[in-house]
Amino acid sequence: MTPSFENTVCPNCNGDSPLRPVSGSRTDIYVKKFGLNVARSSWCFCKGCGLLFQNPRPSKAVIEAFYQQNKYFGSDPAAMDRLLRVASRKHSLKLEYALRHRRAGVPSEALAVDIGCGIGGCLQLMHKAGLKAFGIEPDPVIGSLGRKQLGIEIRTGLFGKGLLAPQSASFFYSNHVFEHLEDPQQVVGAMAEALVENGSVFTCVPTYARNSSWEAYAWQNLSHNYLFTHRTLAALFQKNGFIVDHWRYQSDANELWMVASLGKPNASQVPIPSTYDWKVYADYRFGVMARSLVLWPLRLGYHFKEVSAAITQNGWTSGLRDLGLAIRTPLADLARVFLSLGRTNRA
Ligand SMILES: [Zn+2]
Repeated sequence: MTPSFENTVCPNCNGDSPLRPVSGSRTDIYVKKFGLNVARSSWCFCKGCGLLFQNPRPSKAVIEAFYQQNKYFGSDPAAMDRLLRVASRKHSLKLEYALRHRRAGVPSEALAVDIGCGIGGCLQLMHKAGLKAFGIEPDPVIGSLGRKQLGIEIRTGLFGKGLLAPQSASFFYSNHVFEHLEDPQQVVGAMAEALVENGSVFTCVPTYARNSSWEAYAWQNLSHNYLFTHRTLAALFQKNGFIVDHWRYQSDANELWMVASLGKPNASQVPIPSTYDWKVYADYRFGVMARSLVLWPLRLGYHFKEVSAAITQNGWTSGLRDLGLAIRTPLADLARVFLSLGRTNRA
């Protein structure tokens, strides 16, 4: 029988650095979805590079079954319809940022690839932007839905070495993918092999640094293998020959965005130190309740932006549905803050 959990090491330090165990989130909504007999996920902080990762984590067999058997997205038609609408709205800002910060001088015939493209919301936008793009998605159900409904090329499977010819791609886009990867070094290495000179990668990952709400704490769940900051994500890319061109924290969404390229260093770039301060993680764990309260208007503003985009793009019915979510989610955040006061989250 395959064991459900396995031990892992820091991919940035190859296991050479000491680890500090920390506890996972009490609000781990994925425990039920994975069907594993635990209360919450187990995490550790790498004292060498500052990467936060799940350890022990669900075994390779469990993770592959989870993503390839449609357990992550599910296949409820109403949920799929919503995913399709929301997906393209969320991607438009990210793609605009990615294209603005990627390097010029790549051949126009080189491929653009959306890794873990889901239903293909961003691929539509990439085509509109004039890119020759296709997507790769492990979940066969959601991939086939994207192919049918949007008529776009989505290949079923996992991205890795040998999938693309060397120097055939100019741009990789990945949205909420790297935190789920089993072996991020292998994926970045495969990207480096497939990219042309000056080719770039856009990565959006959930993060705890500069967070605005409780959601940042809930990121530490069973479905995530890693949680990055700009330093640990940069280290992953730099180790594979990339130059980090730009990064930003999108605090209202508790996200980190980064563009890295295979090019020459830019003289004006500020070097990113390879070690990360434990204090940022400790502050997040103990300060998230206060931040949730103080930054509640920011969070609410983020949801209302979503609502106005829904109204503009899909009409009032869709907008009203999203308005419910806009109010409910920050209220739930606030309730969690009050329920958690007095509890310790110490590992
Ligand atoms: Zn490390």
